[in-house]
Parts: sequence; C-alpha cells; structure tokens
Amino acid sequence: FESNPDSNTPHLLLLGLRRSGKSSIQKVVFAKMPPNDTLYLGTTTKTDARPAIKSFIDLQIWDCPGQIDYLEEGVFDAQNIFANAGAIVYVIDAQDDFTDSLIRLQSTIEHAYKINPEINFEILIHKVDGLSDDNKQGTLDMISQQVSEEIAEMGIPVEPSYYLTSIYDHSVFEAFSKIIQKLLPQLGTLENLLTAFAEKSGIEKAYLFDTLTKIYIATDASPVDMQSYEICSDMIDVIIDFECIYGKRPPEMDEAPMVAPMQYMMPQDDDQPAEDGLYNQSVVESEGSSLIRLSNGMVLYLREVNRLLLLICLLRSDNLEKRGLIDYNFQCFKKAIVEIFEVTKGARQAHRIDDGM
Ligand code: GDP
Repeated sequence: FESNPDSNTPHLLLLGLRRSGKSSIQKVVFAKMPPNDTLYLGTTTKTDARPAIKSFIDLQIWDCPGQIDYLEEGVFDAQNIFANAGAIVYVIDAQDDFTDSLIRLQSTIEHAYKINPEINFEILIHKVDGLSDDNKQGTLDMISQQVSEEIAEMGIPVEPSYYLTSIYDHSVFEAFSKIIQKLLPQLGTLENLLTAFAEKSGIEKAYLFDTLTKIYIATDASPVDMQSYEICSDMIDVIIDFECIYGKRPPEMDEAPMVAPMQYMMPQDDDQPAEDGLYNQSVVESEGSSLIRLSNGMVLYLREVNRLLLLICLLRSDNLEKRGLIDYNFQCFKKAIVEIFEVTKGARQAHRIDDGM
C-alpha cells in the first residue's frame, strides 16, 4: 500500500467493487483515454494513489482494488485516508447485481463517517449506457432508497448524492464537475463572476473549464442543461484536435500533452496585469480564442483564461456585434480570476508559514 505523499491536502477517494469501472473512469476523465480502450485495461491489483489534479486545492484519485477489504485493520490505513478525504466517490456497476456493492457501501459510510463526518459521499450508478431510460431512473430510485434506509438505521446525518454515469458519454464528466465543485472554496466567487460576466455581455451560458479534463469548475447562475454543457465540452475536443493537427504549440508545451497529470489553475506570470492595471498587448495577443457558429443562430465562443483554463460561452449570434464589450468584460473577468487564485495561493502560503513550514 502506497502512502499518500501529501496527506494534509483534501482529495477524492474512488472506491467500489472490482470491475465496477474505477480504472476506466480515472483513465477517461483524468487521462483522456478513449472509452473503448478501457476494455483492455487490466483489473486494478494494487491500491494506487496518484495526483490527479494539483491546484489551489489538491485532489487525488485513490484507485482501490475491490478484492482488498479496506475496512480490515492493517490493510487500509482508514484513519489517515478517510480523515484527509474531501469526498468518497463510490462506483456501483448498474449492469451487475449490486447487492454486495451496497453492503460494502453501507460499511464504508459507517466507517468513514466515524473518522470524518465532513466527508462528502458521492455515489456513481455507473455503466448506465446499457440501461433504458426507465430502467436508469428505477435503478437510481431503488439504490437511493435502500441507502437512505440504511443510513437512517445507522442514525447518522449523511446525505449522499447520486449520479447516473457512463464513460461513453458526458455524464461522468458532468458528475465529476459537480463533485469537484463542492470542494472548491472559491466556487461562490467564481459563480458570481461568471454570472456578472454573462449578464453584462449578453451571454446565455458561460462555463469555466479545466482544459485537460473537460471538467467545468464553475458556471453562471442560469440553469445548467446537459445539452449546453455537452456542446461546450465538445468544442474543447474540436479545438484541441485542430490545434494538434494545424496549430503551433510553444516548445514548453511539448512536455504537457493532453495526458499530463493535472497541474492547473495557477496563473502564469505573464497573466499579470501591467502596473497601470491594463493588460499589456503581448498578453492579449497570446490568448487563444475561437468561435463556432451553430446552425440554430447560436455561437460558441471560447477564450483562454490561462494555459490550463478555458472560458466557453454560448450566445446568440446577434450579440456578437457587442464583441468589443465582451472582450473588455473578459479582460476584467480574467483579472479577477487571477486575483482570486493569487489570494488563495497567498492564504495557503501564509497558512504554511503559520504551521511552521
Ligand atoms: P475496476 O476493476 O473497478 O478498475 O474496473 P475497470 O475500470 O477495469 O472496468 C471493468 C470493465 O467495465 C471494463 O471492461 C470497462 O471497459 C467496463 N466499463 C467501465 N466503465 C463503463 C461504462 O460506463 N459502460 C460500460 N458499458 N462499460 C464500462
């Protein structure tokens, strides 16, 4: 068992029975593996901790093999692992008999709650691509009801969240977006910024994406519909494919292909505004942007916030006339984002100094 090298930071634990789909989820969401390639993944045989996302908040995926009883003393250092986890992401194979999986989930909740009552329980009802729509909802209702009854019997105030997921569509990305957002202390500020930006710029929907994972880390206050999320996340694939074929990447990006570990969110030095508060010309010029016109009169507009973060907006094509205003608002938005993460970084450093590090 490998110990967590950075056990003071919050992280996700990815748990579930063997063959439930944990490795596949990790590879598809965090390493850009095409879903069909997961058919050839070997079953996980060791507990594995690897940094998945490193940023202002450190998240880790723990891939835990189903055959090990992690509640058994000495095999799984539950105290250390649960105490430091922000969320347990528990994967249930919806195409299989899930009786055993639910028994295990119940003991996981009981055990983890005792150690860390703050931990979020996120339940993925996974591989739902094989189920009809009625069946999906029926399975979700059955599982959530059973889990709620068990939790009520335990008498603990735990309220798990449920997600219907599949690696063959966007659902697993959407689920991880929501799971990760709950762990972001800056989420409220980011949402307010996006809402203000969208309202002032005539934008219908705006998503702030992590380029590498296609996880959206925040969106504006208008309701999220799966279609707008899907089309915006598809745009990332289109742009990345296009850039890979025709684009010129700076040499330092050669080491950071799409399968790199997630090192994101820290503003780059060249993202800093000049002394007078304005962005210098070279920064503005080096920013990537893309525009795709859709046949329904809408436009997808992408702007690079920094090398690892993208803003993607959906707006009516008439509103493109206000492009100057949108671009000006974007610069203000970007400046605010840089400041938020500078503050967080500063706070973290101060915290380390307080801790004597
Ligand atoms: P692990 O043992 O929990 O790590 O499970 P794996 O990731 O090895 O997955 C077991 C099998 O489930 C593999 O053959 C995957 O291709 C398959 N699988 C994973 N996710 C999905 C999914 O969303 N839909 C379907 N149909 N199969 C999946």
